[in-house]
Formats: sequence, structure tokens, C-alpha cells
Amino acid sequence: MNNGTSILESPIEFLKGVGPMRGELLRTELGIATFEDLLYHFPYRYFDRSQITKIAAVNGLTEFAQFAGILINIGEEGDGRKKRLTATLYDDTRRIELVWFQNINWVKKSITEGERYIVFGKVAHYGGYYNISHPEIEAWNSDTNIPGRQPVYSTTEKLRLRGITNRSFAKITQSLFEKVKPHDIPEILPSAILSQYQLCNRYSAIRWLHYPDTEHHEEMARYRMKWEELFISQILIGRLRLQHTIQRGWIFDKVGGAFNTFFNHHLPFQLTGAQKRVLKEIRQDTATGRQMNRLLQGDVGSGKTIVALMSMLLALDNGFQACIMAPTEILATQHFNSISGLLEEMGITIKLLTGNIKGKERKAILAGLADGSLSFVAGTHALIEDPVIFKNLGLAVIDEQHRFGVGQRAKLWKKNELPPHVLVMTATPIPRTLAMTLYGDLEVSVIDELPPGRQEIKTVHRRDTARAKVMEFMRHEIDKGRQAYIVYPLIEESEKLDYESLMQGYEQVKMWFSEDRYRTAMVHGRMEAELKERNMARFVKGEANILVATTVIEVGVNVPNASVMLLESAERFGLSQMHQLRGRVGRGAEQSYCILMTGSKVGEESVKRINIMVSTTDGFKIAEEDLAMRGPGDMYGTKQSGVLKFKLADIVHDSAILEETRHAALALLTADPRLELPQHQGLKTTLRNHASQSHWAKIS
Ligand code: ADP
Ligand code: MG
Repeated sequence: MNNGTSILESPIEFLKGVGPMRGELLRTELGIATFEDLLYHFPYRYFDRSQITKIAAVNGLTEFAQFAGILINIGEEGDGRKKRLTATLYDDTRRIELVWFQNINWVKKSITEGERYIVFGKVAHYGGYYNISHPEIEAWNSDTNIPGRQPVYSTTEKLRLRGITNRSFAKITQSLFEKVKPHDIPEILPSAILSQYQLCNRYSAIRWLHYPDTEHHEEMARYRMKWEELFISQILIGRLRLQHTIQRGWIFDKVGGAFNTFFNHHLPFQLTGAQKRVLKEIRQDTATGRQMNRLLQGDVGSGKTIVALMSMLLALDNGFQACIMAPTEILATQHFNSISGLLEEMGITIKLLTGNIKGKERKAILAGLADGSLSFVAGTHALIEDPVIFKNLGLAVIDEQHRFGVGQRAKLWKKNELPPHVLVMTATPIPRTLAMTLYGDLEVSVIDELPPGRQEIKTVHRRDTARAKVMEFMRHEIDKGRQAYIVYPLIEESEKLDYESLMQGYEQVKMWFSEDRYRTAMVHGRMEAELKERNMARFVKGEANILVATTVIEVGVNVPNASVMLLESAERFGLSQMHQLRGRVGRGAEQSYCILMTGSKVGEESVKRINIMVSTTDGFKIAEEDLAMRGPGDMYGTKQSGVLKFKLADIVHDSAILEETRHAALALLTADPRLELPQHQGLKTTLRNHASQSHWAKIS
């Protein structure tokens, strides 16, 4: 075991070929401070350097290649910043040009005309001439050993400029393996797992990842390290889940006045079967004396709000406070509005707490939550900030959870003596693989039934050239009494161009829909909150026929009378985003439409996204496609959460390994929940190190 004296902790500058200056560079540029850091800086590809190509064999398809020949015509061209060094390599078949723009003096000193060299690099071609800029070049004599597969490491411009080229990087990692021996990299997986899943040992895996002697070994190494990464995440999640099952929680054993009064007298519609089933699951969970950790998945419009509210009423009936938390101000406000509306006749108060609520009002809310006189609160992450103290928080509903990190979820725990029950709601269906890594610790409920009377939304793709027809269609819908959204992409609220195109769009809409007959409202992120709210309210109340908006309306807005969703420059929207927006219509009984407008030239990926939207309304399918197209990094704000930071594994492509590790983790934890067996000690140490570096620590 490495208990503090391991060679892996040696500072990187002590490695042969590094030294203080390069050491400092590696530390600041790549965060490589120790031998161990370098060990885990895996190459991202390999060059096959076992072959020497004849220069005459180069053609337009040649990418990286290695040549051997005599260097002639070394010379400098240009001056000042445009100065460059050129040379020609000549083998017995043809010539190829070599060029350097940087480190010229240094290179010049290290090459000699008429000598033999091995040259390796990326071949570029300009009008029939081939050249290589900044090649790796090495004297070629009888004891030059030609490497086989050469690792290629990610590096930075600055490192390259300071002479840490890929070749020298490879030399450094080579000297690393002269120092680091098998016993320095002990196995952490139990041998039973190694043999059951046919994994190679840890030392070999790491070594082979840097220096695979065969392709087969490279594959084995990669597989092993991916397996380990995913396995560790599954063990962490598994332990969390285990902890939930033993974590004591408040007991909600009464279904009392508030719940029943609401159910019998104030419910605006009949619950769907799915809503009833989920409520029952929540009631069962909260009555056990253990903490509930439940994920509620339901597509947009499936009716999650009412389930949240009724769960909150359940908390109230049992003498507890409840909160509902959303990722944005708009969504928090929307929840606040719809819940206060539903509660109005019952005389129960809910307050809104966001970063914008300040002064006296804020003080009063905080006081109410602390002394228990306020039972319900809706808000943004302001709710989990430190000054907010609840007297007895029994239930926390978290909407659109994917934007909250696992760590933030854990913060709720600190709010009282026992943790509150947690209901996480998400409108974005989560692909199974992602759910397994992000929410593997939660029980899952699904609302898989839409409220009755909904018709499938018709989705079409239209080009700008058909704008007149589209506007005609929209007018027809509006004349029937419907309302319409027109949404512009806005990546950053500060994007000037986006803002301008929104403004132009708004002017255009007012031309198509003359002000004497039609009312148009606009909302965007640059507006004062008050004006934004007023305009939004005009649309919600039906006073405006058209809402021109940016993606600020993406989540939350609920206007059942709206039947048209027009997305401008639809090629710029992501799949999940389009799905969310489309979910704003089709909420009433009317046939609804989603129109995806694009210019005539649209990229391949965008066409693919648009076609998926046209072909299905199934949120799960769309989420899977989105995950496959974009990868998990960008989705669901997981980048910041740190949960999915795998070095090698990728949950889309490695879903089979993920399943396998989940299985293995479950089996291991069932047999040894506290990791007490001697064969699990290596794993336990790893987990401890892992946890101290990430959000996970806050949970366990
Ligand atoms: P989401 O799951 O997207 O949060 P909401 O809770 O906002 O969905 O519900 C969408 C719309 O459907 C709302 O107008 C809501 O009042 C309505 N709704 C919810 N449940 C039912 C139901 N069982 N019957 C009829 N309408 C319902
Ligand atoms: Mg909702």
C-alpha cells in the first residue's frame, strides 16, 4: 500500500529529463505535479512508428508518416516574425520539404546538412507540394531504435514552444516507467473480480496505456481502466444508496386535513392513474421511518406540479415544513404562482424566496421559516444557502434537478436533525445510462401517462422561404382563438447579435400581425424583471395573442390555450431544448403545432436533430439521441457537478461496461457493505482518496 512514502508522490521535477523549469511548466500547464499525476496523464492516441514510408508513396491521403533520408538545403527565409527555417529531406525516391516557424535557432543547431535523419510528422500538401511543419527529427544511424507505437499526449502550445514536444513527453514517460515498478502500483480490485471479468492487473494496464506493445494489450488496458472508473462510481453510488436505506427519516403516517380537503374540494381535475400511483409511492416511502430519496420522471406536461403540491400537503399534515426548489428564477416564480393559485381557497401560505428578494421581505420569510410559522416556500438555490434555517423541514422537492449537483442535494441534509425526504423531479427524461451514474442512488417513479384529452403535437420543418405561408397559418390559429409562441435562440443573454435578431423579429411580427387586430408581447433576459413579468402575465391571461421570446420561457410556462410553437433559427437549438420548448404547447385539448424554421443552408448535425424532432415526441427517445449526439459532458449541467468526470470511460459508448460494473458493485456491497474484508482494503483506500477530492465526500 502506498502510505505516504510511495515514489508516486515524488515531485515531477525529480524525474530524469524534467528538472525545475520543465517541472514548473508541467505543473502550471497540465496540473502534473507528481509522478502519479504523470502516470494518469494518458495518451489520447498513438502513432505507428514502426513503418518507414517512401517519400514517393505520399499522396493526398497521407496523414502522419515517418521517413528516413538525407537532409539537404537547410536555409532561412523571411525575417522578423515571418522568419522560417526550411530543409529538404531526400530519400532514394523523392524529396519532401520540412519547415519550422519557431525555435529556429535551436533547431538549426541540432541539424546538419548531408546527415541521415528519421523524420516524423503530419504531412500537409499545397498544390502538389508536400511538406511537414515542425517534424520530429532524429539522427539516423546504426543504433537508432525505431519505436513501435508512440504515445501522443495532450499538451499545450506553451509547452511545445518551450521544447516539450510530444517526443520529449514520451521520453519523460519512458523514464517514469524506469522508476515506477509494479509494486508501486498495487492492485485495488479484488482478484475475484479480476478473474470473473477477465481484467488485466493495474500496473500492466497503466503501463500498456502509455506503451502498448500490441494493439490487443492496448485494448485490454483501456478496458480495465474504464472498468475501474465506472466500478468506483458504482460503488460510491451503491454505498450512498445503502446509506439512504438505513438513514432514518421523518415519519409521515397521517393523511390529514390539508391533503384530504385539497383532494376532495380543490383539485381542479381528476388525477391520472400515473399521478395516483406516484403519490402512493411517495406516501409509502415517507411512512417507513426511513428517508425518502425519489426521482420523479415525467415528460413536460405530464403533471408533476400537482404531485409535488400534494406531497407538500402530506408533510404539512404531519407537522412539517416543505420547500420546492427550482434552478431558475422564472421557474421558481412559476411554481410559486401555480401553487399559490391552487392553495388560495385553502388559506395556506407559500412564499417565494430567490436572490432578488431582499430587505424586510426576505427577513420576514427567513424568520417565518426559522420559527415554523411559514410552512411552504418556493425558491431557487437561495434556499440552500447558509442563512436559511428551517424549523422542521420535512420534505424538499427539487425540480429540474439535473442542474443541481449531487453535492447541492446533499446540502439540504444539514437543514435539520434528520434529513428531509427528497423528491427530485425532472421533465427531461434521463437516459438509463445517465440515470445510473447521476441518480443511481435514488428510487425512480415515472409518470408515463399524459392528462386526458391531449393530442399529439404536429411538428414540421419549414425554410425561411415559406415564411409567408407559416405566418398565414399562425394567423389562422390565432383567429380561432389560440395563442402562439415565437422563440429566438439566445445562447448568452449578452449576445449582441442574438439580441438584435430578436428585436428585428419582433418588428417583423408586428408587421405580419397588425396592432389594430393583434396583441404581441415580448420577454427576454435583458428586460427588467418587472416588465418581463408584466408581459408574461399578459400572455398567460390571454391578453396577448403572440409571445415573442428568447429561451427564457424554456421551462415552466404553462398556457394551455397556446397551440403554436415557432422556433426561429431552429438549427441553433439543442434537441432537449427543442423538446422542452415544444412541451409548452399541446397542454390543452386543441391540436397543437411545432414549427421549426431554418434558413436554406443548414449543417448536417442540425438536420439530424430537426428530423428527430419531426419524427417523434417521445421524450426518452429524444434524450437518448441527445446524449448520443452531444455526449454527457454538455448535458444536464453535469460538467460542473463533477460526477461524470471520467478520464477514459464514456457512458454512451461504454454502457455495456457500465451495466457490468453496476452488477459487480451491487454484488460486492451485498456481500461486504462496509468493505471490511481484507480483499477489499485496496478498494476502500481508493474510495477514501476519491471522496476527499469530490462532492461525494459531503454526502457520506
Ligand atoms: P409538468 O409535469 O410539465 O410540470 P404541469 O404540472 O405543469 O406539468 O402540468 C401541465 C398541465 O396539465 C397543467 O396545466 C396542469 O394543470 C394540467 N394537469 C396536470 N394534471 C392533470 C390531470 N390529471 N388532468 C388534467 N390536467 C392536468
Ligand atoms: Mg413543471
